Amino acid sequence: MPELPEVETVRQTLLPLLKNKVIVDVDIYWDNCVITKDFKHKITGQHIQDILRYGKYLVFVLDEDVMISHLRMEGKYYIHQPRKKAHHEHVVFHLNSDEYLTYHDTRKFGKFELISKSMYLEVPPLSLLGKEPKDSDSRSLYQKLTHKRIPIKMAFLDQHIIAGLGNIYVDETLYRAKIHPLKPCDKITQKEVVSLIKHATDVLEHATSLGGSTIRTYHAVHGVDGKFQNELKVHTKKDEPCERCQTPIIKIKVGGRGTYVCPTCQKQ
Ligand SMILES: [Zn+2]
Repeated sequence: MPELPEVETVRQTLLPLLKNKVIVDVDIYWDNCVITKDFKHKITGQHIQDILRYGKYLVFVLDEDVMISHLRMEGKYYIHQPRKKAHHEHVVFHLNSDEYLTYHDTRKFGKFELISKSMYLEVPPLSLLGKEPKDSDSRSLYQKLTHKRIPIKMAFLDQHIIAGLGNIYVDETLYRAKIHPLKPCDKITQKEVVSLIKHATDVLEHATSLGGSTIRTYHAVHGVDGKFQNELKVHTKKDEPCERCQTPIIKIKVGGRGTYVCPTCQKQ
């Protein structure tokens, strides 16, 4: 699943290719991925002025509206010459450059929404989004966590609490901060919150600089592969020795998600 570094890589790849192009038509082959009524009519004729990112959402800034795109599990974009529709292509944007911007999604979980430019930050989904680690302050995050009993990993996957982290980068953050993923939020100290914010920020920045991680089936736009999978310390490292203490990494389940832990460095 694309997380913040992968979505940022998509944004950086798409922006120079799409900036100032006009969407002249749209073909929607899977209605459920488009939330907005009259999407095709509303978006036709608008320029792509910019592409922003909030957490894991891509925000295409158009003339009147923004188009909010969430890739969810498997969403990918391709830019190519007009051709016959291929399998798993659910939305095709026709551009005035005679190119197509195609949205491809084998799982069909991705969503598109058009919201007026004047209010998109004040309404869901973006109004509900927590801050990214780099913008988080330890005191308010500590306040959010201290009343919760859920495991810290679950809290860090919740985009309302902190934005941009998914399964891979939460595991990496907790390992670096030496905190067990099952530790209840109300047992996390303020000092640990400071450490979590610092490590989450570092992990996301480092991963973004390497184009994200390419594991399993996820590739950024145009099949661009990230390199951060080579930097992973715990995620996917079951039975390999911990870099710090040589204890074999174990895999457990937290909220149904495969979770990698060093049982020595991350004491429960
Ligand atoms: Zn260890």
